[in-house]
This record gives sequence, C-alpha cells and structure tokens, in this order.
Amino acid sequence: MGRVKEKYNRRQAEMRFERVYEIVAGERCIYCGMPNDGKYDHQPPVYVLHRFADGGLVTKKAIRERFGPCKLVPCCTICNMGLGAFHGSTDNDRRQEIVNWLLVDDRYPADKLILEVANRLIEDRFQGSRGNEIYQFPGVGRVIYIGALVGLIQGEFAGPDDFPAWLKVTQSELADWLRGAARRKSKYFLDMANLESYELVPDARDNPRGQFDGL
Ligand SMILES: [Zn+2]
Repeated sequence: MGRVKEKYNRRQAEMRFERVYEIVAGERCIYCGMPNDGKYDHQPPVYVLHRFADGGLVTKKAIRERFGPCKLVPCCTICNMGLGAFHGSTDNDRRQEIVNWLLVDDRYPADKLILEVANRLIEDRFQGSRGNEIYQFPGVGRVIYIGALVGLIQGEFAGPDDFPAWLKVTQSELADWLRGAARRKSKYFLDMANLESYELVPDARDNPRGQFDGL
C-alpha cells in the first residue's frame, strides 16, 4: 500500500524543521535591499523540506546533503510573497522569480503605460514636485522593485550600497509608507502583481517551475 500523502500544515512543518535553519543576521532584504522589518525567508522553503521528507522521517544530515545549509535570511514581505514555495538554486534565480510577478505584462498593452506613468511620478518626487502620495500607486512600487532586483541580477549593482540616489530615496520612502497601515505590504504585493488574491500558503502555486519533479 502506498503511503498516504500527508496533508500540509505549515505551522506543524515549521515547528518540525525549525532546528535545521540557521538565522542570518541583517536588517535589509537580501534580495531587494528593502528594510526587512524583522521578517525572514526560509532557504529552502519549509514546504520543500516537507515534500522532501514525504511523510517519513528525515535526518538533518540528509537535508544538508540534498540542499546544503538551511538558512533563515532577512527578507521583506513583498519578496517573500513573490517567492512562495520557490526554492531555486541561487539568490539571482530567486530574484528572477520575484521580479517575474512585476515586469511588464505583454498581454496587456496598457501595462507598459502604467510603468511609464510610474517612472514620471518618481522623477517628479525626486525633484520635489510631488509628495509621498505617489507610493499609493502600485506602478511606483513595481518600478522600485524592478530597479533593485533587475539591477542586482544583471550585476549593475553589487549590493544596495551601490544603488543610485533615486532608488535609495524611494526605497526608504516606500518602506515608511508600507509601514503606515496593517497588512499594507501584502495588499501592495497583490496590487503590484495584478492578483485578485493569493492564499498565503506555500503551495499556492503548485510546483513552481517544476522544482519538485526531481524530489
Ligand atoms: Zn525584498
């Protein structure tokens, strides 16, 4: 008789695998450079370890052999949502997964316009002719996240310290604005990604990019 696939309970799985993760200290998201506000990302995702264990027992050694050291890395809420259960093999691979939610959607011609308007708003803000209200527009958030993530992926910046002035200023202001109301960060991710809803369970997107095929 085959093993019955164990139902996924995130809380239980987190408790189960808690001890295999080591915390990497830091106050900025390792993917985009935004303040992480005390939040962390599991590398690999807890859901990946759950799938790896496949309802049976698994040792720390087996996990390390398969995935390398497991880390809890500083990560902003928005990048965390963009990653979902995606593991990937490098941080740039993970950045690409996040930014794919935010890049121009060619299926909608108007989407390009949204980013053009956002760019204009950012220029105005940087020149002082507009206030913090520009951050209410999710296109502005997209331009900021795309600027940081794509710049890091392409090696234009080695890290957030290399970001141009406009990006440093807007990241800092966006972070302040996002802290201004409860649940604003997760709502903003949905708006930026043009999603109606996103159940915050790691298997929300089943088997992202076929990563579980080899497990
Ligand atoms: Zn981030």
